[in-house]
Amino acid sequence: MQAPFSCLHTHTDFCDGKGSVEDFCQAAYAKGLSAIGFSAHAPIAKKTGLKTDWHLPDDRLDEYIGTVNAARRRWAGKLPVYLGLEVDYIKEPNGSSLSGPADRDFQSLGLDYIIGSVHYIFPPQWRRTLYRG
Ligand SMILES: [Zn+2]
Repeated sequence: MQAPFSCLHTHTDFCDGKGSVEDFCQAAYAKGLSAIGFSAHAPIAKKTGLKTDWHLPDDRLDEYIGTVNAARRRWAGKLPVYLGLEVDYIKEPNGSSLSGPADRDFQSLGLDYIIGSVHYIFPPQWRRTLYRG
């Protein structure tokens, strides 16, 4: 017996992925996944002042949540759809947090899950220099 597979780490065209939420649901269903979750790179511009082209824009967060929740309703009974975000840990050189998965604004969104990630390192002498892994 083959173990069921699911995927909870996905990026659509809301951030740096290719394809819509619906495209991903259709592909997951066609491949027999037991569930799919969406984990857009959480918005960081307002919180950190960092501008990127690969995070969900702050002004599209509500649209993202609405789109995934609509897919959840549309696929009910066929494919479980989960709403998540991938949230960067970003700290100032002094250790104060600019962004993190435990932040109240992310925790209050009613998400099913959050992926914590580290894409940035800010050495004190290179403050605001971006590294992407
Ligand atoms: Zn990711």
